[in-house]
Amino acid sequence: MPGVVMAPSYKYKEGEVYHGFQCQRIEDVSEFELVSYTMRHLSTGTEFWYIDRNDANNVFSVHFRTPPINNTGLTHILEHIAMDGSNKFPIRDPFLKMLNRSVGTNQNAMSTTDLTNFICASRNEVDFRNLQRIYLDSAFGPLLTYSNFTQDGWRIEHKDVHDRQSELVIKGVVYNEMIGIFSDNSRILRRDLLKCILPDTAYHYMNGGDPLEIPDLEHSDLVQYYNKYFHPSNGRIFCYGSFDPMKSLEYIDKEYFANKDAIDTAFSHIPPHPRWSEPRQIHVPCRLDILGGSREKQNQISIALLMCDRTDVQGTFEMNVLTELLIRGPNSAFYKGLIEPNFSGGFNKNTGYFLRCRDTYFLVGLQDLKVEDFARFNELYEQTVLKIINEGFEPHHVESVLHNMELAVKHQGPDFGCAVFYTSMSLWNHGGDIVANLRVMDNIAKLRSSLKQNKHYLQQKVEEYFLKNTHKLTITMSADESYEQNFQKATQKVLNQKLKNLDSDDLEAIYQNGLKLKEEQNLIEDVNCLPCLTLQDVQEPLKIPKIWDELIQGVDHIDFMKNYIQEYSIEEIRDKLCAIGSRVFHKANMRVAINSSEAQQPIVLEHYQRYLDRLPSLEKMKNKTDLHLLKPSYHQYEMNIALNYCSKAFYAVPYLHEDHPGLRVLAKLLTAKYLWRVVREQNGAYGTNARIGYDGLFTFNSYRDPHSTKTLEVFDGCYDWLKELGDKLDEEMLLEAKLGVLQLVDWPIPPGETGLDYFNVRVSPQDYRKYRARALSVTIDELRVIIDKYFKQEPKHFGKCIL
Ligand SMILES: [Zn+2]
Repeated sequence: MPGVVMAPSYKYKEGEVYHGFQCQRIEDVSEFELVSYTMRHLSTGTEFWYIDRNDANNVFSVHFRTPPINNTGLTHILEHIAMDGSNKFPIRDPFLKMLNRSVGTNQNAMSTTDLTNFICASRNEVDFRNLQRIYLDSAFGPLLTYSNFTQDGWRIEHKDVHDRQSELVIKGVVYNEMIGIFSDNSRILRRDLLKCILPDTAYHYMNGGDPLEIPDLEHSDLVQYYNKYFHPSNGRIFCYGSFDPMKSLEYIDKEYFANKDAIDTAFSHIPPHPRWSEPRQIHVPCRLDILGGSREKQNQISIALLMCDRTDVQGTFEMNVLTELLIRGPNSAFYKGLIEPNFSGGFNKNTGYFLRCRDTYFLVGLQDLKVEDFARFNELYEQTVLKIINEGFEPHHVESVLHNMELAVKHQGPDFGCAVFYTSMSLWNHGGDIVANLRVMDNIAKLRSSLKQNKHYLQQKVEEYFLKNTHKLTITMSADESYEQNFQKATQKVLNQKLKNLDSDDLEAIYQNGLKLKEEQNLIEDVNCLPCLTLQDVQEPLKIPKIWDELIQGVDHIDFMKNYIQEYSIEEIRDKLCAIGSRVFHKANMRVAINSSEAQQPIVLEHYQRYLDRLPSLEKMKNKTDLHLLKPSYHQYEMNIALNYCSKAFYAVPYLHEDHPGLRVLAKLLTAKYLWRVVREQNGAYGTNARIGYDGLFTFNSYRDPHSTKTLEVFDGCYDWLKELGDKLDEEMLLEAKLGVLQLVDWPIPPGETGLDYFNVRVSPQDYRKYRARALSVTIDELRVIIDKYFKQEPKHFGKCIL
């Protein structure tokens, strides 16, 4: 590129030490206009990665390499309870409570197959520092109390805590969560596959936890694991954005790393898996899906192949390119080879290239096919691979994939900082070169040059990775009517085993602990140890965000589609779609939004004009604008899943109505102070919330919920709770709820969607400003009026539903 090359001026120097951290590498990544600084803490050895970029959405994260050591869900439970109070913030669920005291754009913790991560992001610096302090303390100073362990992990308790005579059952947030997750057959396939394709390493354990083995975990095992694996030497810290990183370094060094020495972390290292000399095969059962297709088609088949090492940056990049060529879109090789013959329900959900483990792996498979067609799948798979090796890919196709990757570099979303972390974390966790991984343009250039030197380059990769690869696992899965029953029996057996050894003292302790936990859960805690933003900190919006989102979804919709394809032939459906198309797609019926740079405008408009010329012009269809409100309705859909989803909805008022901001504040308040406490903490559902959509629907939801009617009663009881709250509804509660609302309304908007709200739902930037100001200024008295107006009487139009 021509031009004057300036000597780069960096904020920090290689070799210099800043608050105990030595700066080791400084690199520019021009395609993303960022400078990467990698540093290391001198006494503990902790790596610190700072990305300096002119972006207000700052990100902070701490993660540890945490391979599972059994199937008890240890790392998963640890992730949950590390978030359940720490030395500096000794209250239950500070993370959740912060959701109401912050305007963060991301607040999350997760445990994957081999790492545990705490991540937060905010565009407000006061808020960012608040979150950072809480996240650091959760990582380096969690309380890990026994009572938190029993609440989030597992415990034996009376079904009705107050009734000594009621049945003893196993309860726990993670315990229920894992039962819920494996209600999904795709998750069963992925679980069994991972276990079998990497049998000699930590990956054959289920990091989330097997519900049958979770009750084997002891609190002391968990504390011991924490002390070993959550040591600073085994951790990595990430900072991104425009805020001063020196404030972070100083705080970390002073509060957490002073007086800490480095330890050898070889114990958490995961080596590459030894390669097999022969392919393997397994068959596994799964749940019969009563909403699924016909019984004899409830089968899946997948082929899994172990690919290059996670730390091979160019290798994983090229596998990403191959994945696009092999499975993405109707032009791709496996689509043509496996889907076009049309004997299955398409690729299964686990088809793709997976980079979460030390060895990467590729999966391709079909769902909803007959057992007799397994052999056909294998044949077509072989044929497709051979065809690619012999004939290669269309040069045009390769070029379009690479071009799309170049385009993606230019289209950065509003959460770029988090995206950088998520694409780097696994590579970093295994000690790979995280900066080389960001140089996408270099990776593309290298591949182009390999292709120039050898036009069979990609075919040869396919030969090496797919044909000659003996680390190959074929997994088949079939629905089994007794799966659910077998699972119930097995959980009962685990429980019986536990109960067998209990004496009367133990039983008394179970009863007392149940009461104690309930009491703790009901305790109103003083949240003042947590930092909180003031309204001054959030007075000005940074940028107008997007509010519009809508989906076509729902069980009725699935049912309708299922019946529809039964009732009509493909030809009939085609003709119907054509008829609808010819009525819908014509000039008078169309509105268009174009988002482009100024330079591109004439070209875009020219293409648009040409497109328009080809559209038919018909009479404009009549717009029906009457609102049809249905009578109260109750639905229950029986599904073969272990936990329920409950919902109640009623029509309140739409976005532009003056009460909408107040209702939104109220929804936040109900979620944080009422639903979360009762439906999640006391009754054991995984999640619950209240919200109001821009369309005016006010909904209550719960998911992965062990109850149903009980939860609907809780939804109905919200007015009584609000009344009972009385004077306890104070300024602080209101402020928390408002900050929660701001989090939603200030959500950053990607550049490509600028203006879409106005286009789609006619909400102008002025409307948005008014809305935001109204949400911030709602008073307690106004809220009380809204409560009486919308919640005192059962609404005329509402629906309740249980899945
Ligand atoms: Zn979880």
